[in-house]
Amino acid sequence: MSQPLKGKTALVTGSTSGIGLGIAIGLAKQGANIVLNGFGDHLPAQSHIEQLGVKVHYHGADMSKAKDIEELFAFVEKNQSSIDILVNNAGIQYVANIEDFPVEKWDSIIAINLSSAFHTSRLALPYMKKKNWGRIINIASAHGLVASAQKAAYVAAKHGIVGLTKVTALENATTGITCNAICPGWVLTPLVQKQLDDKAKALGISNEKATEMLLSEKEPSLQFTTPEEIGELAVFLCSPAANNVRGVAWAMDGGWTAQ
Ligand code: NAD
Repeated sequence: MSQPLKGKTALVTGSTSGIGLGIAIGLAKQGANIVLNGFGDHLPAQSHIEQLGVKVHYHGADMSKAKDIEELFAFVEKNQSSIDILVNNAGIQYVANIEDFPVEKWDSIIAINLSSAFHTSRLALPYMKKKNWGRIINIASAHGLVASAQKAAYVAAKHGIVGLTKVTALENATTGITCNAICPGWVLTPLVQKQLDDKAKALGISNEKATEMLLSEKEPSLQFTTPEEIGELAVFLCSPAANNVRGVAWAMDGGWTAQ
């Protein structure tokens, strides 16, 4: 099997579950060595990816903390020597009206979903510039393009990361380093499962009914996007065919933002 990313190192933040894990698996299948990050038990993800025959390391940096992110990069340099592909994926959600939004939730969503991508990008770019090759993929959201009520911090952070994507792409436009954002609609991961459980509980309805309501409200395809599909788009963005795809916010949202 051809492995075009063999010998490259990919850091995927928030890759112990959900979309990040799907992307890490997709890149590993193309031969990339992987640095996993995120909370919870990382061993199932690590052993799954090791079976694909690539080197895998894990670092549990808290992406809300600049100092932890610097330690993560020191760890990557020690264990993998370089970084070629950076996927800024770690993210959290909190749902409330602005006047009820806890200040500490605002601060942590902005730190994890937005500021962490600034810190990882500033630390990764010098490695990429040395090789004149790199890929930065920011996992934004349909909420990086349009808004929903009760998601002030999330929508602000995701619009922010789309802006950061464009600046990163422009600053490196004449180099072999590209930066793009992927904007998924609903993906059935622990982050969305919690919103489904809350909806079902609040309305006294079944999980199936809550799923139907969630999808029909926003997503014309009435289908979840899968972490595997997002992984495949990330693989494409790392391919030579995507050499001149720069600063794009690529919706993968079942038509959500086409409306
Ligand atoms: P998830 O909850 O399954 O995964 C989130 C990952 O981030 C986990 O590995 C978690 O441990 C990690 N994480 C959380 N806080 C962290 C921190 N402080 N430091 C380090 N790691 C941390 O969620 P997901 O749905 O896979 O979300 C991944 C990304 O995709 C997020 O940025 C999210 O906003 C985005 N997204 C998700 C959806 C969706 O429908 N699920 C849609 C659009 C965008």
